[in-house]
Amino acid sequence: MPSVQPLSYSSYRTYLECPLRWKYLYVDRLPEVPRGYFTFGRVIHSVLEELVRPLVVPTARRVSEAESQRTLDDWQTSLPPTRPGWMTRAEMLEVYDRAWLSDGYGSPDEEARYRAMGRDLLGRYYDHLVRERPQPVAVEEHLEARWDGIPIHGYIDRIDRTPAGGLEIVDYKTSRELSHEDARDSDQLSLYQVLVQQNYVEPVEGLTLYHLRSLKPLRARPREPTALTVLHDRLGTVSDGIRAEAFEPTPGRHCARCDFRSRCPEFRAVPAENEAALRGLVDRLETLRAEEGKIDLELKRTAADLHRAAEELGVHRVPGTHRVAVRRREETWQYSLDAVRPLLERSGLADRLGAGGPEEIRRIVRDPAVDPEVRRRLAEAGARRVKWYWELDEPNGDG
Ligand code: SF4
Repeated sequence: MPSVQPLSYSSYRTYLECPLRWKYLYVDRLPEVPRGYFTFGRVIHSVLEELVRPLVVPTARRVSEAESQRTLDDWQTSLPPTRPGWMTRAEMLEVYDRAWLSDGYGSPDEEARYRAMGRDLLGRYYDHLVRERPQPVAVEEHLEARWDGIPIHGYIDRIDRTPAGGLEIVDYKTSRELSHEDARDSDQLSLYQVLVQQNYVEPVEGLTLYHLRSLKPLRARPREPTALTVLHDRLGTVSDGIRAEAFEPTPGRHCARCDFRSRCPEFRAVPAENEAALRGLVDRLETLRAEEGKIDLELKRTAADLHRAAEELGVHRVPGTHRVAVRRREETWQYSLDAVRPLLERSGLADRLGAGGPEEIRRIVRDPAVDPEVRRRLAEAGARRVKWYWELDEPNGDG
């Protein structure tokens, strides 16, 4: 059994979606085809890291270290208020140009569109940063922890000091759409909360997905312990699955963007020499399924026609050429427990209700020792369902 490496958010999410894809990525280390939007996200993150890092004043206390020597006042003095001392806008855009990667774009046009969008987005973010300077205590910080036996880790885009002296976790997003629900429900932010809680002394006071395209911080409150327990259970399931080497393919819509379809058993092609024989079986299956549906429908219609005729004639046995059709009756009762229970309680019969099934109630209705008025009212609380069906018997059978 493999030892489970610390789980990151993306490793956890990949396993939940498809354990086999997880194996291809994390055990077999197969490369994925680069995609433009991922490349774009990486480039923007690296520029933001360079841009914001000079603002960092590491005043938050790490659990493992002695108290930091720096104080909140360091922010007030470390940067001039009018011009950010870390990088000019032009310098930032130079960093962007140097960091640019062309991997994964579908066409030069698409790459050019993304590149222009990145310049615009970074320019607007820069202005925003000048206006509302954050107080980061860390950027792109790699944190590890053992969460009740489960090793976890993650890279956190930014950890800010809040006005009250706590910590706010910020995760940048370059995606098109993002809502407050995303921030509220994000397992990624929950995992980061645990990582920060276990590594820092100061409390986590906020969780933020920062939507870069709109410059909107989508804020959520720190998770309650019960919500974290749910995540811990899911991480435990993932961790157990990895340890047990449970790597079954789990197909779904996500297969459309999986790079391993050619080797996945779910999508493996039938060898050419078996194709004809198997095609014949599939076609036969299709035909039989269609006939099965038709036969079922016709069976119901014929039984209903026979039932109507037998009702009119008042007969229960109808001879055919070889067999005799015998009409059978099945009766079931249904009771509303809301009506039955108070009646039985008032009559001192509550202990006879048992699991409250119709058979238990019918037994009370039929019991001559029970007050007739109670039995009558119980019977009224029930609804009788009668179902007729046909059996085929031998001509001389006794039915
Ligand atoms: S193609 Fe689908 S089922 Fe197969 S590994 Fe990829 S995600 Fe899993």
